[in-house]
Amino acid sequence: MDPLTCNDCTTVNFGDSIPLSTLDWPGRASVVFFLRGCPYRCPYCQNYSILSGSDPVDFSRIEQLIESSRLFVSTVIFSGGEPLQQKDAILALCSLVKDLGLDVGIHTNGAYPDVLEELCKRKLVDGVFIDVKAPLNDPESYGRMIGSEKPSVTILPDEVTEKVRESIEIAVKYGVLEELRTTVLPQHMDSPEEIRSIVYSIAPFLEISKVPYVVQQGLPGNTGDRILKELSPLSRESLLMLSKPSLDVGVEIYVRTREKGSERISFETI
Ligand code: SF4
Repeated sequence: MDPLTCNDCTTVNFGDSIPLSTLDWPGRASVVFFLRGCPYRCPYCQNYSILSGSDPVDFSRIEQLIESSRLFVSTVIFSGGEPLQQKDAILALCSLVKDLGLDVGIHTNGAYPDVLEELCKRKLVDGVFIDVKAPLNDPESYGRMIGSEKPSVTILPDEVTEKVRESIEIAVKYGVLEELRTTVLPQHMDSPEEIRSIVYSIAPFLEISKVPYVVQQGLPGNTGDRILKELSPLSRESLLMLSKPSLDVGVEIYVRTREKGSERISFETI
């Protein structure tokens, strides 16, 4: 394939960055860039301040930020918001990172399988982490979890579940899937039945790709929702109990909390 040229694409709509993270790609040290914009409006979003707005930042600045972390990291992660929403910018940025000799990670909500496939075809991505916000066979729940009733969300819930499924299939096909995960907050996918339904709906992908499913502890205090903000995060013990009934599906399940990081769960450890 021709090398990517990006003469007309030199800026990205930028949200934020973390110079060094060991949490965003378990086992690797990464620079993380959060790109602005997202097609969803999840009521529990912890990055709500960058869902819209404009802050064009030149690629040269992104390169400087990568260079200043370079001694300590082996990967660059693009997260968001939704990083694949900015197709031209993400293609060019991933190309830039590969030229610098670093690996590329993508955190995505799965809404842009076409962009993901383009990245995979061009060998511009090494690890993909996909959010599964509700069971893939339950568009109604998925719609609730992504705030589909809000006027700014134009994508329909059953289109979303199809696109997420397609994104997972692409990541599996190209051998770059690293993790499927659900962020759990009070009143948002916080029952064992809901988690079990999610696990059942993605089990074939987990079995083929041998990647883990991760139940992540969401932090209500970091959300923009007035009521949710006042609640405490689900405890590690609650998350373990929430995930336990899914163990009989036979896939690898982790719980990720602030206090203990990522822990693989088993019938013996709970
Ligand atoms: S997909 Fe992620 S960034 Fe977008 S609204 Fe939902 S939680 Fe926020």
